[in-house]
Formats: sequence, C-alpha cells, structure tokens
Amino acid sequence: MKITLPYAGIVLLIGPSNSGKSTFIQRLIEENKIHASEVVSSDDFRVLVSDTDFIDWKQRPKDEADNLYDQYQIISREAFSMMDLLIEKRCKLNKLTFVDATHLHADDRKRYIEIARNNHVPIVAVAFDVNQETLLERDDLREKPRGKRRIRQQFQTFKREKRFIKKEGYMASFFISGTNDIEIIRRTNNP
Ligand code: ATP
Repeated sequence: MKITLPYAGIVLLIGPSNSGKSTFIQRLIEENKIHASEVVSSDDFRVLVSDTDFIDWKQRPKDEADNLYDQYQIISREAFSMMDLLIEKRCKLNKLTFVDATHLHADDRKRYIEIARNNHVPIVAVAFDVNQETLLERDDLREKPRGKRRIRQQFQTFKREKRFIKKEGYMASFFISGTNDIEIIRRTNNP
C-alpha cells in the first residue's frame, strides 16, 4: 500500500490504543523517512505540561482513579492546547506534522481539519484498523497496559467512526491493518 504525504500540513493518526500508531511513527523515524521533530504526541505533551503521562490512571484503585480523573481532564486540556498551538505554528511555516493521539471522536478530528483549513494546508488521515483480539493481546504485553475495558470501548468507538472518517474532508484517508507492506511517498515542494 502506498501512502502519499503532502509536503506540508497535518498527518492525523487515528486508532485505538495498541493499534500501532507510535510504532509506525518510530519505524518511519528509524528509516529516516520522517524526522522526530515532525511528530507531536498527546502523551508527550501531558508529560511536558505536568511531568506525568497519566497513562495508567484508569487502572488504579477506584478511589484513586476518581481523584485522578479531574486532574487528568485539566492536564489533558492544557496538553492539547499547547500541542495544537505548536501544530498551528508549524502549519503556518509550511511544515508537515504527524499528530499521534487516538482521535477517536469526531470533535477531536474536526479541530485539526479546521487548523489545516485556516492555514491553507492539506490534512490526511492514517487510520489503524486492527482487530480487537490483537489490541487486547498487545495490551497484555505492554509495560503499562491501558486496560481491557478501555481498549474494548475504544475499539467500539473506532468501529462506529470508521465510515465517517472517510467523508470528513481529508485530502486522503488511508486505512492500514499492518505496517510491513507500506510505502511512504513524500511530496516535495516543487510544483
Ligand atoms: P497508544 O495510543 O496507547 O499510545 P499506539 O496505537 O500508539 O497506542 P503503540 O504504542 O505503537 O500503539 O503499540 C502498543 C503496543 O503494541 C506496543 O507494545 C507495541 O510493541 C505493540 N505493537 C504495535 N504495533 C505492533 C505490530 N505491528 N505488531 C506487533 N506488536 C505491535
């Protein structure tokens, strides 16, 4: 499968936890197809604004998780606000930015479609369509599992949202289930 990326704009990764978004990006960096500074991730921004990733907060005992919930919401809001500002600046400078987060909800995706549109750059979607069984198996092997309930919820949301993603106004949308046979083509800025 060929994935053609624009010279500038946004590459929106979409997929549940464990679908392989960060692994895919890491592979592209290792193969020198993209540069690490072209990637922004919500997990990284949570750490940057709060020194914690909150990755396993839902896994904590109920009382602790309830207490962390409000904190998680506040920190996520600040993290996304910083991240979006950076994406916007990069769009203005005609840079390409890969956004690594789940983007399972239409409102989250819409924000990036608007940022791209307001800055006159394209946006493409790369969706990671992986079956639930695989997502759950991978969770068992993770150092910080995201939790089975959360994975199942995310999988159902993704399944529901798939058909909308195709019609949301991306320059192109790619649905991938494995990463081995993918060829990345980057457009140059030559007309
Ligand atoms: P999150 O949204 O939670 O950050 P993600 O979609 O970015 O998840 P990754 O961090 O790339 O997912 O991968 C999650 C786990 O699944 C890791 O342990 C990784 O090694 C494994 N994994 C990812 N892709 C594959 C793959 N193609 N084959 C086997 N294991 C994989």
